Amino acid sequence: MTLLACSVLAALMAAGCQPPASQNPNDRRRENLQEERAPAEQSLRTATYKGEGPIEIVCTSGMVADIVRNVGGERVAVDQMMGEGVDPHLYKPTPGDVSRLARAEMIFFSGLHLEGKLADHFASMARDKPTVPVTLRLDPAKLIPADEGYFDPHVWFDVALWSECAQAVADVLAGFDPEFAETYRENAAAYRKRLVALDEYARTELAKIPPKQRVLVTAHDAFQYFGRAYDVEVKAIQGVSTTSEAGLRKINELVEYLTTNRIGAVFVETSVSDKNVQSLIEGCAERGHTVDLGGELFSDAMGREGTPEGTYEGMIRHNVETIRGALE
Ligand SMILES: [Zn+2]
Repeated sequence: MTLLACSVLAALMAAGCQPPASQNPNDRRRENLQEERAPAEQSLRTATYKGEGPIEIVCTSGMVADIVRNVGGERVAVDQMMGEGVDPHLYKPTPGDVSRLARAEMIFFSGLHLEGKLADHFASMARDKPTVPVTLRLDPAKLIPADEGYFDPHVWFDVALWSECAQAVADVLAGFDPEFAETYRENAAAYRKRLVALDEYARTELAKIPPKQRVLVTAHDAFQYFGRAYDVEVKAIQGVSTTSEAGLRKINELVEYLTTNRIGAVFVETSVSDKNVQSLIEGCAERGHTVDLGGELFSDAMGREGTPEGTYEGMIRHNVETIRGALE
């Protein structure tokens, strides 16, 4: 063995024999995905529900809770962790959340590193109970690459893709609670049928905006799946995660873009500060181009419980109507 090989080996051993992280961003994305999915798959392997029901399930975002409520029906009791206006990228669990996770019989989260600050909790919970990202079975080829070695987590904005997640939840529940397998599959079929109609509605409505005006400018980059599914050009001030700060350069670039292309509206999000979007509007005004606030979109959180926007379908309809109304 050469001296160099020896020192490399020594360094590896000092680092706990971890293989070095891949330099290639694509490989890193696959590794990070595997790191999230492997404990989840493991947590499902032998688990079988033994209680009387309803199964006590903690869900993170409203969109995840919406799937589990619809697919689980009366057989589940859903405890939703993140309510109206909550940003999942930044969300740190409270001591109360930690004990809710510990008490739950099952946990569903969105995954693809959306709830980045909860990742360690999920990995440790997976040792005791089914702890599963609803995106578990999505084909990586359908995911949009993002920076920092992750895939873009905002898959709920492609309704057809989110509908695949509903099927995965049904399959996971059927495996865990086989006595009610048929109920879960029937519930999922009914829910997915509504999502087909929702997908069709979004496509038809957005196609009414003339292609040149079909540009969605928002606070953070949550709408790439939406843009791909419904043929909308998407631009954002902040990146895919809200953990990074927006640069002045990015704001200036977007002011230039909005002014040159005569785009008339930009949008704020309920779970992100509107400060940067206001800077865009002011920047355009200084250049003599008027940009309106097109309205408020639901990006990473649904609306208030008990309102139409407090459901996944209502949230998508609200966004589509708001975007169409402002850009048409
Ligand atoms: Zn986001």
